[in-house]
Amino acid sequence: MRPYAPRHFIRYKGRKCSKNWEPASAGRIMDLSFTDEQIAVRDTIAKLCEKYDDAYWLARDADGVFPEEFVKDLATGGWLGIAMPEEYGGSGLGVIEASLMMQTIAQSGAGFSGCSAVHINIFGPNPIVVHGTDEQKDRLLPPLIAGKDRTCFGVTEPNAGLDTTRIETKAVWDGEKYIVNGRKMWTSTAQTANKILLLARTAAREDGAKPMDGITMFYTDFDRDYCEAQVIEKMGRKAVDSNATFYDNLPVPESDRIGEEGKGFYYLIDGINPERILVAAEAVGLGRAALRKAVDYANERVVFNRPIGQNQAIQHPLAAAWAHLEAADAMVWKAATLYDAGEPCGAEANAAKYLAAEACFTACETAVMTHGGMGYAKEFHVERYMREAFIARIAPVSREMILNFIGQHVLDMPRSY
Ligand SMILES: Cc1cc2nc3c(=O)[nH]c(=O)nc-3n(C[C@H](O)[C@H](O)[C@H](O)COP(=O)(O)OP(=O)(O)OC[C@H]3O[C@@H](n4cnc5c(N)ncnc54)[C@H](O)[C@@H]3O)c2cc1C
Repeated sequence: MRPYAPRHFIRYKGRKCSKNWEPASAGRIMDLSFTDEQIAVRDTIAKLCEKYDDAYWLARDADGVFPEEFVKDLATGGWLGIAMPEEYGGSGLGVIEASLMMQTIAQSGAGFSGCSAVHINIFGPNPIVVHGTDEQKDRLLPPLIAGKDRTCFGVTEPNAGLDTTRIETKAVWDGEKYIVNGRKMWTSTAQTANKILLLARTAAREDGAKPMDGITMFYTDFDRDYCEAQVIEKMGRKAVDSNATFYDNLPVPESDRIGEEGKGFYYLIDGINPERILVAAEAVGLGRAALRKAVDYANERVVFNRPIGQNQAIQHPLAAAWAHLEAADAMVWKAATLYDAGEPCGAEANAAKYLAAEACFTACETAVMTHGGMGYAKEFHVERYMREAFIARIAPVSREMILNFIGQHVLDMPRSY
């Protein structure tokens, strides 16, 4: 007779649980493997991050000091140019490698404090690569890649919000140069940046064939004689400042205009997918960091004479968090693979960012709850992770706008906004 008892009647005794609950690969995704070069990127970055442990990031979260030494180490290793062309000092690698790098940084415990310190330098300059002149690329890219220049990114405005076509910052040509006046919100790293990638209107919204017309992109000096940055006190990621920024008669030479006048919105759109993929990879990394802490704690903390992780009420949410993170991660690599292959990837990039942000948030929340009271204590780090997890849900685009996009462009439903 064949045994019919369900397997759960069989007692597993003395079987050692695998500690390797992170993706077995972390190499094999569907029929894809990371190349040796990609694995080397991940391992080298992980090694670099070891110097900056949770205690370091907790201290930065308390004092709000920008992680200069961390950024310097990345610049010295040539990592800031990972996705920039080789002829300008970059490594000429793709979104897959850049995402692996950023995910590894987040996963080390650096979270968004580590990632956001360099994020804008990784793909932000892409419009210069794609639409800049040879002179601009020669002049602007090498100092960015070497970490000598640091840029911030001025898109969001108080009166426009997610509707970028309604920005009010203006650039007026005075016959010799542009003069910029206006204000931006949430300009991250403006306290230390010496450059800004800036969107401004050079023609009124009403004057264009489309609302997107008439916006121009500039990459220029963040000249503090004409620009002011006021720090926004915020929930998390204190070490990487975000600012309300003000522009009073900022002179911008024509040579700092990227591409054609009035086409800046379209250049911005070009960079949207890689940015979403990067943020998604970062969110998965942060979620994994939280999950790792929670699993360790659940295995060690004994209450009612047994590890709390032996209770399904603790174990199941952690297992579910793992499943959601890995599902999001699979979408990250699908989107990145499509992008690097030059294929359309808007649906996948948006889905990856949405799934990863939500999975990260749930993992962080579960990690806090797993720690009980200690989840609320800073020294256990998970409350810091949870505060940072909100960023991926809001920026650079909110989950609502992602779902609007998917509803309209993927599901072919009526535009809802
Ligand atoms: C930590 C941090 C760093 C940032 N760094 C930068 C930076 O460096 N540079 C920069 O330019 N910006 C930056 N941002 C700004 C960020 O990109 C914006 O906050 C984000 O795009 C949302 O815009 P908003 O805040 O104006 O929200 P709003 O546009 O005011 O929207 C508010 C809420 O309403 C929802 N909503 C609005 N319209 C609709 C609709 N039609 N349908 C459904 N829901 C809708 C939104 O989803 C959102 O939940 C940063 C933000 C944060 C929090």
